[in-house]
Amino acid sequence: MTDFELPSAAKSQPTATLAQLSEAVQAGLPRAIADLSTLVRIPSVSWDGFDPAHVAASADAVKALFDELGVFESVEISRATIGDSDRLGQPAVLATRAAKNGKPTILLYAHHDVQPPGLDEEWDSLPFEPTIRGDRLYGRGAADDKAGVLAHVAAIRAFVASVGDDFDLGLVVFIEGEEEFGSGSFQNFLRQHHDQLAADVIVVADSDNWNIDTPALTVALRGNVTFKLKVSTLDHASHSGMFGGAAPDAMLATIKLLSTLWDDAGSVAVAGLTSRDAETPDYDEARLHEEAALLEGVTSIGTGSVLSRMWMQPSVTVTGIDAPSVQNASNTLAAAVAVKISTRIAPGQRGDDAFSALEQHLRANAPFGAHLEISDVSTGNPFLVDTSGWAVAEAKAAMGEAWGVEALETGIGGSIPFISDLVESFPEAQILVTGVEDPDTRAHSPNESLHLGVFRRAILTEAVLLAKLESRA
Ligand SMILES: [Zn+2]
Repeated sequence: MTDFELPSAAKSQPTATLAQLSEAVQAGLPRAIADLSTLVRIPSVSWDGFDPAHVAASADAVKALFDELGVFESVEISRATIGDSDRLGQPAVLATRAAKNGKPTILLYAHHDVQPPGLDEEWDSLPFEPTIRGDRLYGRGAADDKAGVLAHVAAIRAFVASVGDDFDLGLVVFIEGEEEFGSGSFQNFLRQHHDQLAADVIVVADSDNWNIDTPALTVALRGNVTFKLKVSTLDHASHSGMFGGAAPDAMLATIKLLSTLWDDAGSVAVAGLTSRDAETPDYDEARLHEEAALLEGVTSIGTGSVLSRMWMQPSVTVTGIDAPSVQNASNTLAAAVAVKISTRIAPGQRGDDAFSALEQHLRANAPFGAHLEISDVSTGNPFLVDTSGWAVAEAKAAMGEAWGVEALETGIGGSIPFISDLVESFPEAQILVTGVEDPDTRAHSPNESLHLGVFRRAILTEAVLLAKLESRA
């Protein structure tokens, strides 16, 4: 590890060396893991039907962590209303410290709510009993995203330990309380606190790394469109022996209609759903077979590089179907069938436009005059980072220094719709999507875990980034 001075704008500026920061992060690691474990013990599931008192307790605990740092002018818990309703969303924590002497302001985002744990039997140790096995800390939220919260806390601790508390950098912390339940009050929260949240650089610490040794900056996220489709052909079911072969049943119409969504290679065949042309890192068929658990002899679908199919092209998945079950199958022509369609859309296309293309395609291809009913439409916009900004260069440099390995720019096949809300509210800000996860994290699943080496390197990355911003002219 090299020991060198980070660039300093003026001689009066406090600076920190990589070695100092690294030492401070290492010294603070046991405390960061202990604080993270305290948060994991609070079952802060933000979904309806789970006790909101836990999310409130979690917000209190998070607020205490930022209060203790002693560098913020204000630390508050705040809630905003959901959409147009007067129902309040879950509590978020907002901490601010104004910039001085022309230095930039950095906003650090994470969320303190978690997904439901699922069944205890599926976990090797209880979901809300943080447990270290090997290099990993297991528990619901141990990674997604309470480790993001603690990465911010621990990075600020290491930064302050190295430069003192009289720094010029502006700091804003926004720890959301309902990311896992769709960020319902996010837009109103942004409006309500617009001035407090304004920043030059926004770090969203809720994503993945390439592997436990290689950091990644997420620069592309797909958007999503989901809806229910009901296909009806008959006013009521009737005997398949009597009318089969002449009267079209809804299952036939549904199967034929759905099959038009893909070509023979399994690529999406919906006019108007766009793809993006971009370089992707190497990732071969063998790795896909392994990570996605394809059975022996099963081939991949789509064309182009494997990662371009998952990051830069749309995908359509039928995720549910309401039809007579096999056990209850009688010899009848089904009158109606309903399916749930879940589509991922490529960076560069708006969710509303993608939905219009899908709707048009379905209506144009409905066979035998079948009636279609589309409902429960939900859309989220994709996101593409402008990688030409100075903050991206600083973040990648910080990752390279902290990990000793150059950072990759990656995409994510999944969606974080609130990021496009952030971009719309703060068009001038540069957004950095970082994270504490790795391919074995299993966020949202049983046995979710955090790799403690990744955790340390993620904290150091952020501490180095803070020092770099503090030193900017
Ligand atoms: Zn998350």
